[in-house]
Amino acid sequence: MADCIFCRIARGEAAAEIVYQDEQIIAFRDIQPKAAVHLLVIPRKHIENLYDLGKDDQQLMAHLMLSLPRIAKQQGLDAGFRTITNTGHGGGQEVWHMHFHLMAGDIPAMQ
Ligand code: AMP
Repeated sequence: MADCIFCRIARGEAAAEIVYQDEQIIAFRDIQPKAAVHLLVIPRKHIENLYDLGKDDQQLMAHLMLSLPRIAKQQGLDAGFRTITNTGHGGGQEVWHMHFHLMAGDIPAMQ
């Protein structure tokens, strides 16, 4: 997606503070952090949200999920972390490229 901001970050066309990347996923700092550590973990592939996942995405999603605790530990988050994925308008999604918020330290209360 040419104009998707997260695709542009994945292609290196838009700036981001990247903390981890491999062939399939990227993790970078949220531009408006709501916790002491607030990362976004995304697939490089443009998938709008959880509703947009297909059978072909099983390996990618397994890789992304297994990477979350590894990225957290790399950030020194040994005591735990919170992940949030907003899906669709009803879920409060603002950026339409699937992402997992990974937060720790002064995390906001659940609504
Ligand atoms: P949401 O779609 O509501 O789950 O959240 C989108 C998140 O993306 C928000 O927390 C934004 O602060 C964050 N965000 C939007 N644009 C950027 C960007 N260019 N770099 C880093 N984070 C961003």
